[in-house]
Amino acid sequence: MTRQDDTAHIHPPLRSREPFRALAMSVERASTVVFDNLEAFQSRTERLYDGFSYGLYGTPTSRQLEDHIAALEGGSRALVVPSGMAAITLATMATCKGGDRVLVPETLYAPARDMALRFLGPLGIDTVSYDPRLDADLVGLIDERTQLVWVESPGSATFEVQDVPAIVAAVHEAGALVATDNTWASHLLFKPLDHGVDISMQALSKHVGGHGDLLMGSVAVRDDALFRRLKDTARFLGYGVSPDDCALCERGLMTMPVRMRQADATAREILAWLASRPEVVQILHPAQPAHPGHGVWKRDFAGAAGVFSLVLRPDLAPFQAEALDRMRLFKLGASWGGVHSLIAVNDPRKGRTSLDWLKPGPVWRLSIGLEAASDLLTDLMHAFELFAKKQPALALSQDSAADGQ
Ligand SMILES: *Cc1c(COP(=O)(O)O)cnc(C)c1O
Repeated sequence: MTRQDDTAHIHPPLRSREPFRALAMSVERASTVVFDNLEAFQSRTERLYDGFSYGLYGTPTSRQLEDHIAALEGGSRALVVPSGMAAITLATMATCKGGDRVLVPETLYAPARDMALRFLGPLGIDTVSYDPRLDADLVGLIDERTQLVWVESPGSATFEVQDVPAIVAAVHEAGALVATDNTWASHLLFKPLDHGVDISMQALSKHVGGHGDLLMGSVAVRDDALFRRLKDTARFLGYGVSPDDCALCERGLMTMPVRMRQADATAREILAWLASRPEVVQILHPAQPAHPGHGVWKRDFAGAAGVFSLVLRPDLAPFQAEALDRMRLFKLGASWGGVHSLIAVNDPRKGRTSLDWLKPGPVWRLSIGLEAASDLLTDLMHAFELFAKKQPALALSQDSAADGQ
């Protein structure tokens, strides 16, 4: 082995670059970016917001995904970050500093509520929770320190829909910004920026990734100064994304509309069956006419995601674990929006004061995947047969319902 071997291992022979065009997004990896000359090197920080200066601040792959997300959101710029949680933290930290106040709905994604209280709190950023049904009346909570109002519509676990246009008008009048966690609807079913929202955030880990194997989040805006604040904050926090994950996101985007249409169609079949079951006392889905914000959902949204919750009879609580064990297709998992159907069992009542409309009983959140509706129904029936076995009164009430038809 000679020292020349060292060089030869780092510099492959030059090969002429024939034109190569593929349909797939090319994955360009870099921490180091090199420059043609000294002038280009010394002016590299000018290319922080566009162009390339260092891998952490953008590669052709991440920029292309960002342009795609911005276009789909109807924004001028977008930024991709390592997770949905990172996107929430970023949007909040880019707009609030010590001494400021942020308003969050009680329905905000629970880890983000935790972050606001336990991470932003000690930094001097004060968080105030509000009832998501307040809509424009939440301005009563805005004071001169309030910089940002978060909206999550529909909200996590219980799916209340907020009147975003009314909230935006009132919050802007009061001098603050509005950010939405639009993960449930995604840009396909609701476009926050079209309704005046300042920062549209979504967890790309859910519908966009779509296969349960990817973590990423995005923020999209129409205001270039706000984009620069977000980009600077992302830089200071050291947020960067892998080009391989960007390519997976881009692949997910291509099939996302078809996946979401199919998941909704399957979800509606399952909802129709659940609505007929005596074990189910309430269905939490924006398309249910009795659901809080249903009218707003009909007015503002282009459809529904296949993600909803149901409330079981309280006396079934002790048999949940055994019922869940009987299912083969539905897996227990905290995420959603992928091709695999999932169930999450969480009590949304914890830390919430605005759930007087919610009936008592265990809450299951279902994320409907792309399995056949008939197979998913069979899976659910296996679980519900266990309930009927444990509570024979359920089987009787079903018979009498059938008699009445
Ligand atoms: C999953 C989720 C997030 C967080 O996304 P991660 O990429 O998992 O960090 C934020 N908001 C909502 C509504 C979510 O469902």
